Amino acid sequence: MQTEGDVLTIGYCKIQSQNDFIREWVPRRALYLKTILADEAPREPIGMCLCGLRMAKWRCQQCFGGRLLCSECCKNAHKFLPFHRIECWNTRYFQVGALWQIGLKIYLGHQGNPCPVTTPSPPETEGASRKSF
Ligand SMILES: [Zn+2]
Ligand SMILES: [Zn+2]
Repeated sequence: MQTEGDVLTIGYCKIQSQNDFIREWVPRRALYLKTILADEAPREPIGMCLCGLRMAKWRCQQCFGGRLLCSECCKNAHKFLPFHRIECWNTRYFQVGALWQIGLKIYLGHQGNPCPVTTPSPPETEGASRKSF
């Protein structure tokens, strides 16, 4: 074992010390900081969601890509991912949010769908069926 400055050599394996890693990182810290801060704001101005119905201002920290979605698309994307953490753009920063805020309900039976027996049918269907009588 031989030491030379901050470099420790064991056999032919060169081990770097913490100071070596810091010296490597210091010239790159501005790039790291810029990258981290760029992720704290939308890459493009907030616009319509891909569905075209609502503004896209929700994003998920765990989903790949970090794209912005409207509340309904975000809710549909997380129907089977209830433990993801979402954020909402409040015009100044991404505020921590929760899936319940966009109306996500977790159904434990019926393969994630509401129970067909206990769930009332949508009003349009009831109205249509009444008209037919
Ligand atoms: Zn949408
Ligand atoms: Zn997600």
